[in-house]
This record gives sequence, structure tokens and C-alpha cells, in this order.
Amino acid sequence: MDKGQYGRRDRLVKEKRHDTYREYGKWPEPTVCTKCNALFLGGRWSWKKPPADANRTTCPACQRVADNYPAGYVELKGPFFRIHKEEILNLVRNEEKLEKGEHPLERIMAIVEEDEDAVIITTTGIHVARRIGEAVAKSYQGDFEFRYGDGEKSIRVFWTR
Ligand SMILES: [Zn+2]
Repeated sequence: MDKGQYGRRDRLVKEKRHDTYREYGKWPEPTVCTKCNALFLGGRWSWKKPPADANRTTCPACQRVADNYPAGYVELKGPFFRIHKEEILNLVRNEEKLEKGEHPLERIMAIVEEDEDAVIITTTGIHVARRIGEAVAKSYQGDFEFRYGDGEKSIRVFWTR
């Protein structure tokens, strides 16, 4: 059996899928997202005011939301979490706000209550997911770990206390 060929085909499939959500280098400049108004200019996405004649697209973050295809999963759980849920989720939203302010493609997609003592937060980017996990662990200790997948195109973050 020619394993090399199968391996290559797998890679090609993956690369094609990633390309859909690629963050850089695929738009003419300037290009604005018609859903969130993020602007692609100077090789990066920002919240700068888009010029009236900017090209139009749907940015990778809005595309992920539309496809329900998260890049990051953050699971927060445990008895301590259950008691301090509101406070911890405030921290989570604040971290998102800070990250998203600088990096428009790093957003929370959804915060889903799996159980009384567990939530799953899905994100459009890997950085905001890791940032949330780190911030929660820094403020509340507990057990924190994360795993990249898919050639660091996705991440799973776990925090328990
Ligand atoms: Zn957008």
C-alpha cells in the first residue's frame, strides 16, 4: 500500500479546509467584513474605520460563526466553578473584549452550559481560547491544560476547580 499517497491526500484535504478560515494574505486591500465591519489593511485585520470604497467580504471569524466551526473550545468546570460561575464568566468576557479589541478575529462564539457545574466556550481563534484559560487559572488556580490540534489551527482548553 502506498501510505505516502494517502498521507498526502489527507494533508491536501486539511489544507483546503484551513484555507477557508485563513487570516492573512487572501484579500485585496482594503477589504471590509460586511458582517462585523472589521477591516483588512496592511496585512492584518483591525477595527480601523473602513474607507467607503473598500472591497467587501465575510471575515474568517464571521465565516466560522456562520459555519458553526470553532477554532477553540474552552471547558470550565467543577464545584468551585459552579459557585463562582458568574464572576468567572465576567472575567472570561472581559478577556475576550481585550483580545478582540486588538485582534478582531479572536472572539467568543458561544458560551454553552453543559451542566450546572460546567460550561463550554467556543471561539473563532486559538489565542483567545488560551488567553481565557490562562486568565482563569491565574486568578483562581485550579487545574489548567490545553492541547493544540490540527497543526495548531485548533485548541482545546480545560480548566477544573
Ligand atoms: Zn466579520
